[in-house]
Amino acid sequence: MSHLFYQGRGRKPVLDQARGVYMWDTDGRRYLDGSSGAMVCNIGHSDETVLAAMRAQMERATFGYRLHFETEASEKLAAATAARMPAGLDKVFFVSGGSEAVESAMKLARQHALAVGQGSRWKVIARSPSYHGCTLGALAVTGYSSLTAPFAPMMREMPKVPAPRAYLDGLDPEDPATGHHYADMLEARIEAEGPESVLAFLCEPVGGASTGALVPPAGYMERVREICDRHGVLLIMDEVMTGAGRTGAFLGCEHWGVRPDIVVLSKGFAAGYAPLGGIVADDRLVEPVLDAGGFAHGFTYAGNPLACAAGHAVLQVIEAEGLIGRAAEMGASLKARLERLMARHEIIGDVRGKGLLLAFEFMADRETRAPLPREWRAFERFVQIAYDMGLIVYSRRTRDGIEGDHILVCPPLIVIEPQLDEIEETLDRALT
Ligand code: PMP
Repeated sequence: MSHLFYQGRGRKPVLDQARGVYMWDTDGRRYLDGSSGAMVCNIGHSDETVLAAMRAQMERATFGYRLHFETEASEKLAAATAARMPAGLDKVFFVSGGSEAVESAMKLARQHALAVGQGSRWKVIARSPSYHGCTLGALAVTGYSSLTAPFAPMMREMPKVPAPRAYLDGLDPEDPATGHHYADMLEARIEAEGPESVLAFLCEPVGGASTGALVPPAGYMERVREICDRHGVLLIMDEVMTGAGRTGAFLGCEHWGVRPDIVVLSKGFAAGYAPLGGIVADDRLVEPVLDAGGFAHGFTYAGNPLACAAGHAVLQVIEAEGLIGRAAEMGASLKARLERLMARHEIIGDVRGKGLLLAFEFMADRETRAPLPREWRAFERFVQIAYDMGLIVYSRRTRDGIEGDHILVCPPLIVIEPQLDEIEETLDRALT
């Protein structure tokens, strides 16, 4: 009997060891980690550089409360993180995960508005579908009705605009008119809400769990930035899944040259070696908040030296092993393989993504884009079939939790061609 109750009653195999892209359970079965956990373990499992840095930190101090001490580990990680950001984003605040980071970004934005006499601004517009975390604040900006509806009385659901899913709407993703079409829905929403009430717009640069590696159409991101500027709305970029190199750039938003006001990081930031998240904010946002008495926010474990030492070593490994370039290169190879599978398997209706944030979506009909019947629960069944074959992939229902199934295929950035062969071959068998 287990005393754990993570989700349901089903028991999972017990993890014994993990090395590189492989994991073993206590029965000795081997799995290829084709989802890097939940798009977390970007540099692979048990990297010796990171383990050594963590051991060294453990020998010095495992905890120092942030209101009592700075630590060398947090200072070094903050500096290394700021160095990877667009110019001007250099104020770093650490937390222990993605939901905490999203909360922190929204609270910083709000405290900035208050500090500069814009207290009327409080709404954070987000997209639907989207996923930004499981705490009540992060759920309020999550566009996934099956997750948010049960908690509606406990939070204030924020306004949503449609995610730019050109592939479902039959629009050309290469045509900037398509990007403008979706971005202009944001502007219409800001105007309808009243710009003086809108604090921020929150989005992922490439959609993750909720939309299955959704790459925005040409022109979208740039136009979103313009619209935010025009209405004095802050742009918060949730790079929890896309950040730290996964899409073939350190930040996903770099692909469009868009500079957010606040960047949200977690997952790949410490790559599964420790619970770590963070926000990186524009200096101009943080200074008025500090002048007005400081950022009234924080978590006990935030910035703990062990997590920061892990994060710093992870950034060093990403750099030393050229993993961002590898994500682009291996991603192109894996995407071509997924497209080959699409040519062989009618059930795949779309292949998409950037770098090693890749997905395919099941459809009943490629022409009409009709989803598979909901009761098939194809996404769950497929993940289980692949798991039984020793390949871990990740899935959620795509279309607002109602219908549509996508499978994310996102191995660690250290993946090599023979392992991509193994992924392709196993997916092919699982699809068959
Ligand atoms: N934002 C995004 C884009 C995510 O994918 C996730 C987690 N899947 C979160 C926020 C929340 O992160 P966490 O689970 O670490 O709280």
